[in-house]
Amino acid sequence: MQILDGKLVSQATKDLLAQKVTELKALGKKTPHLAAILVGNSGASETYVASKVKSCAEIGYNSTLLRFDEQISEKHLLDNIQLLNENPDIDGILVQLPLPKHINEELVINTIDPTKDVDGFHPMNVGKMVSGLPTYVPATPYGIMLMLEHYNIDTKGKHAVVIGRSHIVGTPMSILLSRNTKPGNCTVTLCHSQTKNLKELCLQADIIVAAIGRPDYVTADMVKEGAIIIDVGINRVADASKKSGFRLVGDVKFDEVAPKCSFITPVPGGVGPMTIAALLKNTYHASIGEKEHLN
Ligand code: NAD
Repeated sequence: MQILDGKLVSQATKDLLAQKVTELKALGKKTPHLAAILVGNSGASETYVASKVKSCAEIGYNSTLLRFDEQISEKHLLDNIQLLNENPDIDGILVQLPLPKHINEELVINTIDPTKDVDGFHPMNVGKMVSGLPTYVPATPYGIMLMLEHYNIDTKGKHAVVIGRSHIVGTPMSILLSRNTKPGNCTVTLCHSQTKNLKELCLQADIIVAAIGRPDYVTADMVKEGAIIIDVGINRVADASKKSGFRLVGDVKFDEVAPKCSFITPVPGGVGPMTIAALLKNTYHASIGEKEHLN
């Protein structure tokens, strides 16, 4: 069994981007600039945004963090996105989800200029991804593809079971894995909360991508020998021995599943850091006016 080390691959991607930024600066070109919007003060969202902003600084990008109170009106938020759209110094815009209930998430995503939509959630970018056109690919599935590529994992002809059909993880993951690309070329089964025979399907899988949001949901009896396991889940479970009062676990019961696998991502330190690396790659492409071509 080999661990797919997201920290290591993310660092390698960041080192490469840092080098490219140094080159851009030496040529007198624009420094990539990411704007992040954080509404409210949910602990998890704070942590995610903080590590995105910190990563920008590490590799020489500029970043702007706009923080708004939980009570912000939808109009005020949309107006601020519009200002970022119109600001030529801003290359990429991300709005940390989820948003408070009174704000229409779809409207917010649709307001972001698709050329600055480095999270790849705008319907125009989703449409391009589905059509196999160059675009911004949603950061988490993109990060997973970068990880598979880094470890030169042969996915061609494999049966991939993706558990979870969210717009940000499961659905784009199923599309990317099924495409005629390397990595890619999988036969994909997309499972969700209404899937009847999840265990049977998982037992047929050469690759399982778990994006459910339920701690330790995928157990050893659901996994065949030699499978590749990508654990997207980030779940907080109470742990009195930690200063924070919680620890992070994935959707996969790591200790019992890992011995059966050929490759597995840990939580933390697997998909999480790759999501940030992918976001930074998208921002670089936004800055130089180019889209990743994954077709
Ligand atoms: P979501 O809640 O939007 O979607 C969960 C999906 O799981 C749904 O499509 C649902 O149909 C499916 N599901 C729920 N119960 C199921 C069951 N019993 N059997 C089969 N399918 C079931 O969640 P999401 O935004 O896709 O996130 C999933 C997990 O990934 C969460 O833990 C989230 O925190 C994590 N996440 C991690 C990263 C990262 O960078 N590592 C990024 C995004 C999300």
